[in-house]
Amino acid sequence: MESGSSIPGGTAKVAAWLKGEFEKSSLWHTEYIDVGAPGGPCLKVTGGKGEKYRLLLMAHMDTVFPEGTLKERPFRREGDFYYGPGCHDMKGGDIFALHLARWLETKPHLLENHAICFLFNPDEELSSIYSRPVIEELAKKSDYAFVLEPSMEENTLVKGRRGVARFYLDFHGIASHAGSAPEKGASAIHEFIRWGEILLKENKPCEGTNLNIGMVSGGTAANIIADHCSCSVDMRMTDIRKGEHLEELLHDLASRPFDLRVLTTIKGGITRPPYGNPDMEELLAREVTAYFALKGKEIHWKTVGSASDGNFTSALGVPTIDALGPMGGGAHTPGEYGVVHDILPKFEILTELTAYVLGK
Ligand SMILES: [Zn+2]
Repeated sequence: MESGSSIPGGTAKVAAWLKGEFEKSSLWHTEYIDVGAPGGPCLKVTGGKGEKYRLLLMAHMDTVFPEGTLKERPFRREGDFYYGPGCHDMKGGDIFALHLARWLETKPHLLENHAICFLFNPDEELSSIYSRPVIEELAKKSDYAFVLEPSMEENTLVKGRRGVARFYLDFHGIASHAGSAPEKGASAIHEFIRWGEILLKENKPCEGTNLNIGMVSGGTAANIIADHCSCSVDMRMTDIRKGEHLEELLHDLASRPFDLRVLTTIKGGITRPPYGNPDMEELLAREVTAYFALKGKEIHWKTVGSASDGNFTSALGVPTIDALGPMGGGAHTPGEYGVVHDILPKFEILTELTAYVLGK
């Protein structure tokens, strides 16, 4: 099913299919939550006892690929690998969620004292701008959160992610002939270059902060002073204050530009906070590692730079484990793949971890 985030009704097809599958068992209560996303609604599935959720499981239904990609590159399997748009990020996670539900149907005692909630959202690749309030509302009712994003290595889970701040800047100057009337022009590009040098000082990898100016465009010809320039600024940070500082800095620069004739508009902000309290996830990771060690399985942990919906739950104080989906690689590229031989071992980690959390 093709479900690029911006394809109208794309994720709605996935949601309808999942809803039908969950409804095959009377254990599950399903509900659409309309959030205004282009693809379709969120699908919420709950089961078990109680108003609060012992566990919130999150999986997104959207992909980054435009309409028509599926026709060009339909799902296929070759040996130990499978390919197709979104197979790794993260349709595999959606399927894991469904099969986890199937598995829970055979273990009714696990839900005797606890409730569980699955949330499938339609807009994770758009930074969950539509579904964030739903995620946060459910997180506040949950003891633990699992995210079914894919993993890249065997037996490896994610216990931390950095936050993301993203800005789009538009510089508006005054065009003029660069040779005959340079004094009448105000260069949007020159203004941008001066900002750029200041912004790059915020790039501090050793402090866990990376800043990237990933897109720049502007100007019309070599001999014309540019009246327009635009750029994007992406920051990844372990400390939310770095993102807040960047936002202040940008507005400060806009309020007193180098060339007073250049006006700058700023769009964007912090789209995802970093994980809230690294010690909280560290503690859970240690518990989980010890639990699996008793079963003879070694679990590895990672803290990664990319963000997911786990950033929202962790920032609200809910211990969050991510990368519980199947293993693969090449996310967001035509070479995206999943690995067949790791499907069952990884699914076993998910079921055992779920049993552990529900049994605590
Ligand atoms: Zn994803």
